[in-house]
Amino acid sequence: MARQSHYDEFEASELFCAKCRRAQPVRKHLLLVLPQGNKYDYVCTACGSSVGEKMDDDTSSFTILNPER
Ligand SMILES: [Zn+2]
Repeated sequence: MARQSHYDEFEASELFCAKCRRAQPVRKHLLLVLPQGNKYDYVCTACGSSVGEKMDDDTSSFTILNPER
């Protein structure tokens, strides 16, 4: 599988929240564990709405959860 990721791995601590209309501190929240990586949800700590999501290509969690693979 080709890696076409054009963005760098980064740890977002603040993202723009449309509801608050300003950048807010966010909480990283593991949403899904998939064969190709983990999907994270970023939630505004002020109003609790989702402000973005991110996919990484770390497959180790999936392997741990599915040892048969
Ligand atoms: Zn907000």
